[in-house]
Amino acid sequence: MTQQQFDLFIIGGGSGGVRAARMAAQRGARVALAESAAMGGTCVNLGCIPKKLYSYAAHFSESFVEARGFGWTVGDTRFDWQTLKANRAREILRLNGIYEGLLSKVHVVRGRATLLDAHTVVVGDQQFGAERILVATGGWPQVPQIVGREHVVTSNEVFDLPVFPARLVVVGGGYIASEFASIFNGLGAHVIQLYRGEQILRGFDDDIRHFAAGEMRKHGVDVRVNADVRSIVRTSSGLDVQLADGQTLAADTVLYATGRTPNVHGLGLDRVGVAQRENGAVVVSDHYQSSVPSIYAIGDVTDRVQLTPVALGEAMKLVDHLFGSGTRDMSYDGIPTAVFTHPNIGTVGLTEAEARRSVGAVRIFRSEFRPLKHTLSGSGERTLMKLVVDATTDRVLGVHMVGADAGEIVQGFAVALKAGATKAVFDATIGIHPTAAEEFVTMREPVGA
Ligand code: FAD
Ligand code: NDP
Repeated sequence: MTQQQFDLFIIGGGSGGVRAARMAAQRGARVALAESAAMGGTCVNLGCIPKKLYSYAAHFSESFVEARGFGWTVGDTRFDWQTLKANRAREILRLNGIYEGLLSKVHVVRGRATLLDAHTVVVGDQQFGAERILVATGGWPQVPQIVGREHVVTSNEVFDLPVFPARLVVVGGGYIASEFASIFNGLGAHVIQLYRGEQILRGFDDDIRHFAAGEMRKHGVDVRVNADVRSIVRTSSGLDVQLADGQTLAADTVLYATGRTPNVHGLGLDRVGVAQRENGAVVVSDHYQSSVPSIYAIGDVTDRVQLTPVALGEAMKLVDHLFGSGTRDMSYDGIPTAVFTHPNIGTVGLTEAEARRSVGAVRIFRSEFRPLKHTLSGSGERTLMKLVVDATTDRVLGVHMVGADAGEIVQGFAVALKAGATKAVFDATIGIHPTAAEEFVTMREPVGA
């Protein structure tokens, strides 16, 4: 076996791993990175990027209809799944190349890496010594043990389904389930989304959850709550999804989006003595150090906040700590996020319920309206915007929205929240007219006042 020595050996070339590799190499460290699949990880290959491209594709169906209200005559429209898949694959291949280019100063090893000991990584027949090892292996879809589990697909397969599913059943009520229910609905499938609890999108503001579910239904997604799958059976015409209440739903494809667990299978963490949570997540300190001092972990494998910008932020804090000034920090408060449902959800800060629990007295500002575009488009889509304000300090604690471009709008307000903006500062800000976003600075009367 050959043995090369590195300052940092990174396992996983996803959002966190690539950023850490690039930044550490820029600071002069000798860095190696092992990746077993396409460079760029989940976000680039099977997550954020292809998902957003498909979401754009799905929006066109409503644009064709809405255009008529503005005087356009739209001819026959037809959606071709094979074209979308091929164009997506070409773009992702281009991005893979860009990611590889970012690693010009990094020794890239192709293959699945395993830990031999606290300072040694094995990939195939190669062995590498490292002063420090960074585990950035991401997550993997988790499918519960139901009868017929072998018939379902996950987000890993859904981008490349050989045939477009005319009837899609989506199981789950989180980000992935809600986004793909909207996407396939927009692309023309008949979509039923099944969620086991009272309302989809647990963890988001309750108003936002109810409103988003209502808007998704208006757009055509059959969102069903308190729905549990008992089994899935293959039939001559597709799949039968049998529910606990006795109903049977016919589907061409069943997509399970029931969460993701840390991707630690076969890594050898136990052999080396790295402490893990029950679901395999690597337990880390504030500086991403595991229970074995030379081994660090960032991103989804730590199962904290599974978002690309969080993995990137963690990579930069870690590299600064190991090879830089050690001053860079990363706050987990006020992380903005969007769910690319149709319409989008954008949110930052505390939900109303969280704010009531943490500060007690709150003032709620809420505005629900028909967006200007839809006065002519004929669409029944409505927008909801909500501010949660600390009644004692006047500080804005939460900004929430359901509506077109909610992610784009809330990103800017996330800066205001970081800066500690009060409602008085929002009130003193001049709106941009006519936009939906201006509503966030023109809401004057609290709900119930
Ligand atoms: P990953 O990006 O998953 O990278 C891990 C890499 O490690 C993979 O490339 C894997 O092949 C490799 N690997 C694993 N084990 C080994 C091994 N033993 N040896 C070698 N290589 C190995 N986040 C957002 O912020 N916005 C979004 O819109 C968004 N959309 C998403 C949509 C979907 C469908 C999914 C699934 C996720 C989405 N996410 C989104 C989440 C985001 O993709 C992840 O949070 C992010 O990719 C985590 O980065 P990471 O570096 O921790 O892991
Ligand atoms: P989520 O944790 O968001 O949602 C999982 C869903 O599955 C929940 O509704 C959960 O229900 C349900 N569920 C869990 N176990 C079962 C079960 N055994 N049977 C039935 N339902 C079950 O995970 P996702 O898979 O949607 O996404 C993983 C993560 O990836 C997200 O949390 C997010 O961090 C990231 N992501 C981010 C995106 C973005 O930024 N736009 C887009 C996509 C993913 P319950 O609520 O009752 O527990």
